[in-house]
Amino acid sequence: MHRLRAIFRWGTRHIDPERLWLQYGFALLLTLCLLTAVHFVSDAIGRHSDSATETIDASGRLAVRSQQILLLAKNAPGLDGAGRDAMAQLTQDFETTYQALLQSEIWANRLQDHHDGGLAPLNSLITEFAGLANQMAIRPAEESPTVIARLQELHGPLGMFDALQTSASLFTAQSRSEALRLQYILDTILIISGVALVVVALFIFLPAQLMVKSVIKELRNKTAVLCSSQKQLRDMNDQLNHLVSHDALTGLPNRAHMSEFMNSLMDTGKVRKYGVLFIGLDGFKAINDTIGHESGDLLLTSVAGRLQRCVDDDDLVARVGGDEFLLTTTEPPDDVAKRILTTFEDPFGINGRNITLTTSIGYLTTCFENRQPDQILGNAAIALHAAKSGGGRRAVAYCPRLGEDSALMRQLQIELRDAIRDGQIEPWFQPQVNLADGTLHGAEVLARWRHPTRGLLTPDRFLPAAERAGLIVELDHAIWQAAIRQAERWQADALWRPQISLNAAPDTIADPHLIEKLLKRIQEASLESDQVIIEVLETTLIESADDMAAINIDTLAECGISLELDDFGTGYASLSKLTQLPLAGIKLDRSLIAPLPDAGADSVVRAILALAAELGLSVVAEGIEEAEQAEHLNVRGCAIGQGYGFGRPMPPNEFTNWLGKHANEQLVAGRAA
Ligand code: C2E
Ligand code: CA
Ligand code: CA
Repeated sequence: MHRLRAIFRWGTRHIDPERLWLQYGFALLLTLCLLTAVHFVSDAIGRHSDSATETIDASGRLAVRSQQILLLAKNAPGLDGAGRDAMAQLTQDFETTYQALLQSEIWANRLQDHHDGGLAPLNSLITEFAGLANQMAIRPAEESPTVIARLQELHGPLGMFDALQTSASLFTAQSRSEALRLQYILDTILIISGVALVVVALFIFLPAQLMVKSVIKELRNKTAVLCSSQKQLRDMNDQLNHLVSHDALTGLPNRAHMSEFMNSLMDTGKVRKYGVLFIGLDGFKAINDTIGHESGDLLLTSVAGRLQRCVDDDDLVARVGGDEFLLTTTEPPDDVAKRILTTFEDPFGINGRNITLTTSIGYLTTCFENRQPDQILGNAAIALHAAKSGGGRRAVAYCPRLGEDSALMRQLQIELRDAIRDGQIEPWFQPQVNLADGTLHGAEVLARWRHPTRGLLTPDRFLPAAERAGLIVELDHAIWQAAIRQAERWQADALWRPQISLNAAPDTIADPHLIEKLLKRIQEASLESDQVIIEVLETTLIESADDMAAINIDTLAECGISLELDDFGTGYASLSKLTQLPLAGIKLDRSLIAPLPDAGADSVVRAILALAAELGLSVVAEGIEEAEQAEHLNVRGCAIGQGYGFGRPMPPNEFTNWLGKHANEQLVAGRAA
């Protein structure tokens, strides 16, 4: 066992599996050589035994023929014809046999070695004997006795017969020993072959076999390891697929998964048509900012749960954006949309707080002919956009007109860059009035696009396009520049000391070049910094996690440029923001002013005015259309008013005319419009 192990070690160390064929080749060659040697030796043995048998046979026959010749000669001294023929035949056979024996080298050599004088004496005896026997066949009968006597003498006393017999036995003995020698050689070769084969088996085949066995074992082990790692890999792949196709926060499928699902719905032919709902959460960013991101995440998870409860198991709900969800359903989509809107009427309980959240939904029914997920989702998104633009908290069904609006939006995006460059977007001015004495306070600058083919476009038509095209900053700066130049002209003409309020989009506030450009323009126009007010939306402040926006807001205040919070009362600005930011004032949204003097609206307005007074913020009331509203606000302590009641937004020349008429008069809402 120990040795076997040693051989195994030797074998596995010295045998290279790649060169195993060499070892096998060597073993095969050795076996072939041994077989060839065995073949040749046994062939030699065969040949030797054949020739020995023949020679022994011939040698015996020679002795027998000599006796037959002598017997024939003795028994018939006067041979008749038949006797003579027999004698002649015997004699010829005797001679032929002898000649053949002489040809057999082994026989001749053995005899040469045996007889003292070599073969010559025996040869002459045989030659004479044969000669006399031949004479017997042809000579006359009277000569026979002498010939017979001589034959007898040659055969007997002179020792021919003995010599022949001795030769035969001698040769037989010699042949036997030769055969033994050859047999010995054969045996030796066979033993060597046996040993060689054992050596080959032990040192080549056994180690090779053991090595192959160990390689197979190793391979099996590796296969087992491979199988297990393959399984791990499959598991990981499954996990990865799940991660790739699902949203990590809510665990809902993501957009890619939804697209695949929509493809498979139609491909399997299970359904011919189904509903798709694109659901957006209204003002989620503001809520998220107010309640904190951790609670925001919980809120999203609750929303996901509620949406899932609104549909069957066969329907799929996916999260496709921060505050956007997609839903496919086999029910009529308007039913599902209504159910979702109703479900959202109940507030969400998050970390002990009740949070009211509304949704906007864009929906459509898709059919086999219109089955491209991208197209379907694009249309649902257009409908969602329409729902949001309509003020949210509603569901809008997709219709081709919405698609056309969206196409128009794309067209405007394309045209906008040139329009800004060519000055098609112009500043219009809407007066702001001191409510206490009716004097002109300032003007808000509002953008208008004098479109060459579509006529005059208001901001609601082109601002979304500018935002989508990434041109809103450029647009704001263009409007500001034109407005400041106009203010410069009014100042130069001494028509009034202009104070203009410029609207700034969130992106504009975050523009790194904002301060530098604005200050340059104000200085070039020889205006004071208090003649320019920047109006920002609540979302700007809420989303100004952006450092640049925060820096700009602080810098504006440091430069003496007032900042007013636009559309106050519509959003979710936390009151703390009002104190944290360097705001100069707020602008009350039209929606708060319109119901005045309604008692409910009045109490809200009063509360806001009290808060603003407490914080030292000025207040501008927007959307004053009636004198009654202006009066009411004045009584409540609101300092400034703006609205159609005092004056609509006007192009510069019209505003100049308006100034000419009204600059020095006391403006009363409802009269100047
Ligand atoms: P905003 O800043 O709240 O502007 C007031 C809007 O209310 C203006 O609409 C104005 O025409 C309208 N308005 C004023 N008084 C009354 C009224 O008595 N009744 C009614 N029904 N409406 C009144 P407009 O000009 O269509 O502007 C819409 C919005 O577009 C603006 O709302 C502002 O957020 C934005 N915007 C306008 N110009 C610019 C601009 O140059 N840059 C940026 N970023 N936004 C602008
Ligand atoms: Ca404004
Ligand atoms: Ca406003």
